[in-house]
Amino acid sequence: MAQLNLSNSKIIFPKKGIMEEKNVRIVDGTISEIGDGSNFGNEDQTIDLNGCYLSPGFIDLQVNGAGGVDFLTCEVDDLEQASEFLLAHGTTSFLGTIITQPLKSMNAAVNRLLEGDVNNLLGIHLEGPFLSSIERGTHNPDHVVEPDRDSFQTIIGDNGEDIRLFTFAPELEKSKDLLRWVQSIQALPSIGHSKASYEEIQEFLDLGVYSFTHLFNGMKNFHHRNPGPVGAALNSNAYVGIIADGQHLHPATVKLVENTKDSELIYLVTDAIAAAGMDEGRYVLGDQVIIVNDRLARLENGTIAGSTLTLERAVGNYMEFTGASLVDAVKTVTVNPARLLGMKEEIGTMAIGSKADLVVFDRNLEIKYTIIDGEVVYDGEC
Ligand code: FE
Repeated sequence: MAQLNLSNSKIIFPKKGIMEEKNVRIVDGTISEIGDGSNFGNEDQTIDLNGCYLSPGFIDLQVNGAGGVDFLTCEVDDLEQASEFLLAHGTTSFLGTIITQPLKSMNAAVNRLLEGDVNNLLGIHLEGPFLSSIERGTHNPDHVVEPDRDSFQTIIGDNGEDIRLFTFAPELEKSKDLLRWVQSIQALPSIGHSKASYEEIQEFLDLGVYSFTHLFNGMKNFHHRNPGPVGAALNSNAYVGIIADGQHLHPATVKLVENTKDSELIYLVTDAIAAAGMDEGRYVLGDQVIIVNDRLARLENGTIAGSTLTLERAVGNYMEFTGASLVDAVKTVTVNPARLLGMKEEIGTMAIGSKADLVVFDRNLEIKYTIIDGEVVYDGEC
């Protein structure tokens, strides 16, 4: 029986708030007890968290690469390096995100990611290739295509059950068919890279879509007579992904979202690329060159291309930009994305019987420990 005790922690609960001086006992990868007092005994199996915060592990639904590794072009053996980088930043679950490429390259990238067997890969986010060629952002226009059953099948291959999130543009001709294909593999459809009208978006919300990929970025701008995807997202009960790096969105725009949306419906993503955690310089994102300067990643033509953000920085930025509490900010990277994916019973919460995927950090949001299945996988010490 593998046991780990975490003593003297401040636990962040989404509903109850922060509870101080708590101890947690983990047995065989599952939280078995949460209690008061000094500890549960067994000192050799106990880590004193010295009053650091303890929260469910962070969940990032949009990661294109990290720590020098680009998921579109890397080898299977490189994935561990990306995974370790993400673990060091508290991310216990992430969706490896595959952006628009030739169909077979997308399929090969999905296969490689799934072959890698890294412990924090939750599944795949397919972002493209069925996107607006106008609002394509960094997606290569040569490979953006109309929805088509064979194309969809080529990308998915035998991996339907590992595709968790699928970003698409609803205004494309066969998007309603695409929505059915996405729903048939039980992936979550998410609206993004779209120039659809408010009314077109509304039709898809009525068909059961309830997520927007990186709200504002890669979407037609809001106009008061043509509110488009942004207006539809802010008026709806759908979830919205936010890149809170201070560059993709002005801090006041993040504040606007926080003022408008229910706090349960916001999820932060990094949209990180290989350059996350690396020096300035040139990197690749699939078949495109990215130049990173002052933490900002751009294509050679100046288009913003992913980020170098990490989730704990996103949490700190979100608090700074919006004035949100630590509890509400942590929700955006734990229980909210878990609930969006329909996985709230498995990840993103802390309760007796839940999987011990946890993160420990100090008041500066510096990650001290990351724990997966009750095992310390990153040790930065309190
Ligand atoms: Fe994007």
